[in-house]
This record gives sequence, C-alpha cells and structure tokens, in this order.
Amino acid sequence: MLYEGAVQDLIDELGRLPGVGPKSAQRIAFHVLQAEPAEARRLAEAIITVKETIRFCRRCFNISESEECRICRDTRRDPTLLCVVEEPRDVIAIERTQEFRGRYHVLGGAISPIDGVGPDDLHVRELIVRLDDEDVTEIILAMNPNVEGEATASYVSRLVQPLGVTVTRLASGLPVGGDLDYADEVTLARSFAGRRSVD
Ligand SMILES: [Zn+2]
Repeated sequence: MLYEGAVQDLIDELGRLPGVGPKSAQRIAFHVLQAEPAEARRLAEAIITVKETIRFCRRCFNISESEECRICRDTRRDPTLLCVVEEPRDVIAIERTQEFRGRYHVLGGAISPIDGVGPDDLHVRELIVRLDDEDVTEIILAMNPNVEGEATASYVSRLVQPLGVTVTRLASGLPVGGDLDYADEVTLARSFAGRRSVD
C-alpha cells in the first residue's frame, strides 16, 4: 500500500534504518504525523545536528565532537594500554564498566568475507602507525564474541605480535554469538580484569 508523497517518503526513509521493518516504519511515520510540530522538529534537528557536528576522532576513530575525542584528549588515561574494539558503541560499553583506564582504537567493523569486509576496510593500518608513534605496551583485543570478531582478533594479533607489544584478549564468559555491548557491566568488567595473553 502506498501513501501520498511526503508520507510515503518518510516511511521509505524510516524503512532503511537498521532494525526497522515496513510495519514499524509505518507506525513511526504515523506517530510523527500526529506529534506536535515541536516534537517532530526536535527529531529532525537532532538528526541534522549529529551529522553536522559529530565526526570520527582522527586518532582512535571513536565518535567525537572535535578532531580528537574526549578519551584521547584526557591526559589522565594510561597511554601504554590500548583496547581495540569494533565499533564506537563498544567503547561506551567498556567505559560503563569503569574497569579500563587506557585508550581505544576503533576498527570500524569486523572482518567478514560474506559481507565483503576485509582488513583493508578497517582502521588496521592506522593501528600499526599508532604503535609506532605512541608508548603502547599492551593491546587488549575486545572484539565481539562471534565468528567475525574471532577472525578479526586473530588477524590483528598476528599483525601486532611481531612488533613487541603484549597482546591480550578478554577472558571468556561473554555470551557467545552476541555483541560486546549486550553483555552486562559486571560480566564485561570481569572479562576485562581476567584478560589473558594471546600466544
Ligand atoms: Zn580518540
């Protein structure tokens, strides 16, 4: 069923969002139609503002409002520890545990041949450059506990081990097959504290 012009445009756009099926898209579109104009405007402005003001940190590729993110700018963070994650949301999940006082490197995804994502599509080269430029002594691989995460962790670990840094991985106990940010804080904190060396 097709609606007229603007309504259908909105449904189509919403339907392109991850996790929003056609039914949800229609439900959200009608919610917006019935909403106060101010509410609809706030939503539209939040979307525009995020695109105009947020970018990726030039050092770690976390999301940031300036050239370098808050964590990279924070001189109290331990520069010898570098936690490698897939996505910015993983940074948030780990920060919530308050277990980690080092810095991060966000790869921007995981190796997945099925989806056509290879190492060159991730910020791997930039990671190697950082190891050269910064005082990193330990890399903590905190990939998602699934097939793509495993593949990415072994790739990165093979690449950085010859460079003389200690490589550790989060301890098991994370729900297998899920995303890092689905893990509760206690489980994630425990798996951080119990991280072990990769050999
Ligand atoms: Zn950063």
